[in-house]
Amino acid sequence: MTGGGTRRRPAGGAVGAARGHGLRHVRLSSSRASRALTLAAAALVVAACVVVRATAQDNVQAAPSCREQEPQDFLVLGNFAGRGHFTPEQVRARRDTLAKAIRYRTEHYGYFAPFGQRDWNAHPPSFYAKNTTFMGLRVRLNEQIIPAVACAEAEIRRACADHPYTPTHLSGLRDHNTYRGGEVSNHVYGIALDVDPTRNTCCGCVPPWNDAPACHREGATVYERMEMPECWVHAFEKYGFYWLGHDQLMDTMHFEFLGDASRIRP
Ligand SMILES: [Zn+2]
Repeated sequence: MTGGGTRRRPAGGAVGAARGHGLRHVRLSSSRASRALTLAAAALVVAACVVVRATAQDNVQAAPSCREQEPQDFLVLGNFAGRGHFTPEQVRARRDTLAKAIRYRTEHYGYFAPFGQRDWNAHPPSFYAKNTTFMGLRVRLNEQIIPAVACAEAEIRRACADHPYTPTHLSGLRDHNTYRGGEVSNHVYGIALDVDPTRNTCCGCVPPWNDAPACHREGATVYERMEMPECWVHAFEKYGFYWLGHDQLMDTMHFEFLGDASRIRP
């Protein structure tokens, strides 16, 4: 979106010179003191500006105009999919959550048949797709979440320098669903990003993913079952992404934006 030009107010006019001879002497006699005060005030203003500018630069390096946010619960996969023992009431609630999640994704990110209804969005997800880069690699994603990816990247560059990792392969938007059983992958909406599938495996998925040696490491945490640094997970999580390493799937390569895309920029 392009915004309108910034309107500027005209600069305030210079303060008019004092008039009337009767007051002139008094003004002149106190002029040295007032000049000293003015200089002192100016020095304070300059010092304050330096502090403000330094703080602003720090913020730019940390994350340019990024608002932190949590994933929205009803979009989290584990709240409507996966194995478990559920009461009939819970089954109903989970089905409702899935329906709500499908409607939200359709309305915001595009209609992907047969999930949802065309009435909710006349456009397919490809309508909203744009090429972008993440850590120097090209990837195609829904344009609405690209600012959140930039926020995560800025955070990685700022906070994860002690954990060097260079990705070599990304996967974003897909034109086919890779889930079964009534669920739909966030890749079809362009809001999911896989980082190096062969280095960061999916231990809860079908073979060959769950055959990876990393999945059979005794006593390893899910963070130790991948090459990507844990620090990257936290950087993404800060800006509304959900990491599927937390899910039963233990899909460690996979981040999906489940925040509110209209709230990414303050
Ligand atoms: Zn994925």
